[in-house]
Amino acid sequence: MLPNVRTPPASAPGRFGVLVVEDDSTIGRHLETGLRSNGYAPAWSRTGVGALTQASQGSYDVLLLDLGLPDMDGLDVARTLRARFPDLLIVILTARTDDIDVIAGLDAGADDYLVKPFSLTVLLARLRAHLRRRSAASPPPGPVPLGDLVLDEAGRRCTLHGTDVPLRPKEFELLTLLGRHAGEAVARETLMAQVWDENWFGSTKTLDVTMAGLRRRLAKAADSSPRPVRLPLITTLRGHGYRLEDS
Ligand code: CA
Repeated sequence: MLPNVRTPPASAPGRFGVLVVEDDSTIGRHLETGLRSNGYAPAWSRTGVGALTQASQGSYDVLLLDLGLPDMDGLDVARTLRARFPDLLIVILTARTDDIDVIAGLDAGADDYLVKPFSLTVLLARLRAHLRRRSAASPPPGPVPLGDLVLDEAGRRCTLHGTDVPLRPKEFELLTLLGRHAGEAVARETLMAQVWDENWFGSTKTLDVTMAGLRRRLAKAADSSPRPVRLPLITTLRGHGYRLEDS
């Protein structure tokens, strides 16, 4: 018997894990490639049973679920995984256009659905919208120390030895996101999708400009501090993104 799953559980740090459940090879491959090149960490299962196993072995943020599977009804997969993982974002991909199927899918616990054929661009935009709404809904953690910096998301303050470090809004959000994933590589696409508008596409130059500003302001704050300071180290990972280390 062929293995159901083509790729190992992929929950690369700083990226959203997406479990694609699709028996059609062309669509499955298209989704896997498209998701990976857009900063997601996809895994692909061709069957419902494979998906249930895979979901319990890996850590996934999103389930992209075809309803017409060879071994079981996709609605049962949705129901089972919704019960097991209340926070999982479930998006149904279906060739069925009847309203009744869409209603059944949403009743089975899906958050959204797309009717095939769908465009990858639209799918990615929907995912960004859902994921941003989710991160906005979860309460920010308390103040977090990063070296001698203290990052207070709720109060939107960044302080160094108790002195405010003036940051622009996007600089603050960029630092916050990297700080949340301290020690992990965070892809440029993930940063663009979460810090900037969900509808960004093309150039990520604005990210480089914001990062340069952030580094400059942190260095300036460190220079003007009367005491020696330990700043978190932000490393540029060429062709990927950034990694913040709590020095
Ligand atoms: Ca199918």
